[in-house]
Amino acid sequence: ALSDRLRAVALEIPIGSKIADIGSDHAYLPCFAALQGLISYAVAGEVNEGPFQSAKNQVEKLNLNDRIKVRKGNGLEVIEKDEINVITIAGMGGPLISEILEAGKDKLNGKERLILQPNIGAKSIRLWLIENGWELIKEHILEEDQKIYEILVAEKGNPHAPYSNEEREADLLLGPFLKKEKNEAFQKKWKHELLKWKKIIRQIDQKAQNEDTVEKRKDLMNKIQMVEEVLNDEI
Ligand code: SAM
Repeated sequence: ALSDRLRAVALEIPIGSKIADIGSDHAYLPCFAALQGLISYAVAGEVNEGPFQSAKNQVEKLNLNDRIKVRKGNGLEVIEKDEINVITIAGMGGPLISEILEAGKDKLNGKERLILQPNIGAKSIRLWLIENGWELIKEHILEEDQKIYEILVAEKGNPHAPYSNEEREADLLLGPFLKKEKNEAFQKKWKHELLKWKKIIRQIDQKAQNEDTVEKRKDLMNKIQMVEEVLNDEI
């Protein structure tokens, strides 16, 4: 069975789409989407030989060769004249996802929906989307096997729309939609981050300070205050 994480990504694919799944590994996501009748076509891209072979094997095993093209290449370069309208990039760090989007900008026509699932560092994706005119339209957060995952959905539009002026920094870090909803997974993630940051502060305080540690301590204190305000704020 497909993981809850990838299932949540698949739920954001409009029916009948042509998707490019970048960093597809076993091509589980496009295979699931094809078998469920969610998509008419997919490109599964992989930069590494091992995962590329896994993807090819999986697609062959399920007899999906006619609808899923497995291609080897870096990031969005695997997209050809495929009329792709959805790009999924899942299971990597936010900074890597942003790098892939930045390097592959030329491949985007602006009509696509981006469904991005960073394991960490979602903030760097939010910043990339703003810089490049993509509007964050939805966010999800979920827990599976003790890990917490975020899913960001974007389309071309007003990139500033979901962000508030007063709480911009918190929106960028926590996610403007997630921060409003504050579900269980969200609270768990940020309570855990708070504990980590407080531990680092205790470690800093046990040593002699220098310019760097003073700066780092200040940053952490700001983040702690910001996140505590969000978590403690009752509805
Ligand atoms: N997307 C799948 C998922 O969410 O379960 C697989 C995630 S796996 C942890 C990340 C995959 O991305 C690896 O198979 C890796 O080879 C691939 N990858 C990393 N950088 C890439 C890039 N620049 N272009 C294409 N694939 C990449």
